[in-house]
Amino acid sequence: MVDTDSSSDLFQRARAVTPGGVNSPVRAFRAVGGTPRFIRSAQGAWLTDVDGNDYVDLICSWGPMLLGHAHPEVQAAVADAVGRGTSYGAPTEPEVELAEEMVARTPIDSVRFVSSGTEATMSAIRLARGFTGRDVVVKFAGCYHGHVDALLAEAGSGVATLAIPGTPGVPESATGLTLVLPYHDRAAVTAAFAEHGDRIACLVTEAAPGNMGVVPPEPGFNEFLARTCAEHGALFVSDEVMTGFRASKHGQWGLDGALEGWRPDLMTFGKVMGGGFPAAAFGGRADVMAHLAPEGPVYQAGTLSGNPIATTAGLVTLRLADDAVYDHLTKAGDVVKQAATEALSEAGVPHVVQSTGTMFSVFFRGAPVRDFRDASDQDTAAYAAFFHAMLDAGVYLPPSAYEGWFLSSAHDDRAIQTVVDALPGAARAAAEA
Ligand code: PMP
Repeated sequence: MVDTDSSSDLFQRARAVTPGGVNSPVRAFRAVGGTPRFIRSAQGAWLTDVDGNDYVDLICSWGPMLLGHAHPEVQAAVADAVGRGTSYGAPTEPEVELAEEMVARTPIDSVRFVSSGTEATMSAIRLARGFTGRDVVVKFAGCYHGHVDALLAEAGSGVATLAIPGTPGVPESATGLTLVLPYHDRAAVTAAFAEHGDRIACLVTEAAPGNMGVVPPEPGFNEFLARTCAEHGALFVSDEVMTGFRASKHGQWGLDGALEGWRPDLMTFGKVMGGGFPAAAFGGRADVMAHLAPEGPVYQAGTLSGNPIATTAGLVTLRLADDAVYDHLTKAGDVVKQAATEALSEAGVPHVVQSTGTMFSVFFRGAPVRDFRDASDQDTAAYAAFFHAMLDAGVYLPPSAYEGWFLSSAHDDRAIQTVVDALPGAARAAAEA
């Protein structure tokens, strides 16, 4: 058994001064039980907790750390930027360079920076409503877009983990204009647009759902959504906060949009583009983005938006995220997926591995997951046993069955071998749960 005394002490102190002892719910280990590990430092593929235990990190800060922790070039650029001051409330060069980099890698014409994915989707929806003059928003069950009031109906991520039905504190007036449909259900989309089409401002979807575990969109599904929106004068908002610059060099859009020939009207970004700092963005068609203040009437602003440290970290991260990085993620992912499949099969644990590009997750059920109802039908007790056995063996998985497993370019042979070695024992623990 690993020593967790210092984490336990900190958790006790944290609970006295912070709700649940954490600043984002899934971190509290409620779904898997046990003591959350307080992290002291991280390097490359490894986390070190306050008791001195090392773990191979399969969360990567829930996506952002594409290059691993404390990447020397990112660190150097950030240290250099910090030396010039940390926030000015005036425009800077790194913002322009990061915007240019993002416009070059995605189908957006222009981009506005914010500080979190939540802000990005909230602002995109306001802009869609302002642009169309309509009020209804369509989303899919199991897709998480941050804790935006209007989008907290049947969301994934922590909401799924905690099985909170929507959430208290969100008035009906906020979700009353949100239509929630089952993912992949074309008939439901067609029916919703037939009935409410002239009131729908936008349909927002995760480009590939990653917050109920990874559910790759079936070929043509995003194209169908884009086309349906266009036919009804609604905007297609593709949330790439998780998939952007992670599922592929060009995000999920690079995997299906570029091939199928459609583009979203608006996109949202976060995670990788902030290089581990609080940065996110929304962008899209030039005529839609022109509706934003100060060019247009739709108000949106932020004291720390485009912060020079965050945009510097994001810029260096994206510039370093070349084909070799994505090739490495693909190869390392293949090894982990194969080893997980073998270990769980050997132990007789029902499971299914799903991927989109370099993103993947392991579901603890025997059949494929196409929507939130499927994702909810998992053996979460088996996952909890699996999670803790992996943790004891030095591998930090997401403390929830509803999340993807994230790798980085710093996950070298030693890190991957540690995961591979831990899997058979964890699979046996899952089988006994
Ligand atoms: N959209 C998606 C697809 C996400 O995965 C997340 C975060 N997991 C968000 C939005 C919200 O981002 P943030 O946590 O930065 O507010």
